[in-house]
Amino acid sequence: MRPLLTLLLVVALASPGLDAQETELPLDRLTPDAVQALVDRSITEATVYRDSLLAVRGRRTVANTLRLYDEMTLRFNVAQIVSLLSRVHPDSSVRAAAADGVRRRTAFLTNLRLDPRLYRAIATVDTMPADAETRYFVGRLLAAFRRDGVDKDSATRARVAAPRDESTRLGQRFNEVLRRDTMPVVFRDTAALAGLPPDWLVTQRRGPAGQVIVSPQDLRFVLQNAHDPATRLQAVERLQNLGAPDNHFVLDTLLRIRYQLATLLGYPSYAAYQFDGHMAGSPERVHRFLDELQRITEPAVQRDLARANSVLGRAPTWGDVQYLTYQLRGRDSPRAAVREYFPFERVRDALLHIADTLFGLQFQPAADLPVWHPSVEGYRVFESGRLIGIAYLDLRRRPGKPPSEATAFVRTGVRDRVIPRAAVLLSLPQARPGEPVLLGSEAVASLFHEFGHLLEDLLSVRPWFGTSGLPAEFDFSEVPSIVFEHWGRDPAVMRTFARHYRTGAPLPDSLVAMLEQPDEQRVGLGVRALLFRARMSLALHERPAGVGDIDSIVRAQQEASVPIGRAMLNAHPEASFTHLVGYDAAYYTYLWSAVMAEDLLGQFKSGLMDPVTARAYRRAVLEPARSEPAARAVETFLGRPFTLDAWARKLGNR
Ligand SMILES: [Zn+2]
Repeated sequence: MRPLLTLLLVVALASPGLDAQETELPLDRLTPDAVQALVDRSITEATVYRDSLLAVRGRRTVANTLRLYDEMTLRFNVAQIVSLLSRVHPDSSVRAAAADGVRRRTAFLTNLRLDPRLYRAIATVDTMPADAETRYFVGRLLAAFRRDGVDKDSATRARVAAPRDESTRLGQRFNEVLRRDTMPVVFRDTAALAGLPPDWLVTQRRGPAGQVIVSPQDLRFVLQNAHDPATRLQAVERLQNLGAPDNHFVLDTLLRIRYQLATLLGYPSYAAYQFDGHMAGSPERVHRFLDELQRITEPAVQRDLARANSVLGRAPTWGDVQYLTYQLRGRDSPRAAVREYFPFERVRDALLHIADTLFGLQFQPAADLPVWHPSVEGYRVFESGRLIGIAYLDLRRRPGKPPSEATAFVRTGVRDRVIPRAAVLLSLPQARPGEPVLLGSEAVASLFHEFGHLLEDLLSVRPWFGTSGLPAEFDFSEVPSIVFEHWGRDPAVMRTFARHYRTGAPLPDSLVAMLEQPDEQRVGLGVRALLFRARMSLALHERPAGVGDIDSIVRAQQEASVPIGRAMLNAHPEASFTHLVGYDAAYYTYLWSAVMAEDLLGQFKSGLMDPVTARAYRRAVLEPARSEPAARAVETFLGRPFTLDAWARKLGNR
């Protein structure tokens, strides 16, 4: 054995303590070279483990094969952070080095998954003596290898790598186009923005003649709140053309390449390839699910349309959908006044306090932790005095950072080996000196949603790297976040911490009704807007032979989902639909997860602040991670399989 290999094996197998890799990365002074070196090291170390695994002679066991495979992936994921850095690092040269790292990592993984020697080695491991978690791990791993083409002939395998690499590139290109499309919308004057809260208005740039200059990331907020239909139309036209026309063409190519990849691997469409291994399992099942939601929402949609006529005095158009969704509940209430009770720091501290009450986790600010930008907050997370994770809150907007709401693994944790690290990304405005940033109800809900992802990232720590982290099935991945979002929408919870930012007064009863927030899933039209996105992502990935006009596919799905007449012409909602890179065909995940989340929440019978139920939920749903099918986790917690009933009831109850 080569000395490097010996050394690595000694570290991996002889020391059960924390990984030597746990030394802090100098995230505050990263250079392109350092990023490249990190990726190099991870690939070199992973290669050493792969080679030593392949070199094993004789009977293959969990100890001599699976352990090495898991160690290989663990080493490889030392560089997991590059995917985050490629999106949010303030230095464009570091972002570029990280994006290059992402491509090299994809290429390495593609080759790994196409290596029949590796597949055979794992397939012949004797798992009979192993525990259920290990057997499930091996079963899923082998299925993933087959899905990616390991059992195809060598000519086919040779053709798989190029389209994979190309789709990674095109995905990065799609995001880069959006990052650059920052052209604002200029509104005539503040009167055009009536309905928007005053503290928000003062943060917007102004033109020489009193115009208000609003950047794209704030347009959705304008769309939800502006009373003037002409203003909403201006906002919707810009929003529906973000990233267009460039991304229209990037996407067209990307979809063709994905189709090519799927058919190479023996699937009729990219959706069929992607859903193999999801809870839903197939496009047919997803179509049935979406049709079922369409049917359930029909009475609510008819009610909404009738009320829309009384709100608007006319039939709604495309510029009205978001506004209606957010006004159909609590219209004429002083929405702006509610914000004054939700200054950012107070909401954040309440969030951390809730995590402690429910799950026994203490988030301690750690100013000594290196971070990639001075506005990022680092926390050490403790449970019963033991360090169990590291959390980063990167919540402020800044030039070069895309306006996303997301949570990213910095490192997946492995029990007794690697402390999990994760980061929440939002684009809240920068605070102005002496002025707090006030959060609207949707921003509060978003913060709780992303924090739900973060909690799962910190708690899904298993004995194997291969069973830690995100849930086994992709379409379960929004469940923890949608569940936790409810703490950020529940009036009883929010009354406990909402205080006026100047007077410290608690939220008056007159405003509590406002907290019955217009969750878009409680409004028929809101659900239909989500259905449209789900159908668009699916239909684009079922495009026959990967050809056909994207615009007419998008328009047809829009008109089928939201019954307010013909779709807008000259609109390209697909060009800024960032989920097409990452969620691909599976935007339905949000609705699928929401249905399950609603069912799970029904178990909190004595209120959301009940720590006994919260801990049972943590054990049954969050902690299993990838160690068992998600359906089993749900059944453990509910005592039965999930149903649509709770979700359907919520729509009726207004
Ligand atoms: Zn989410």
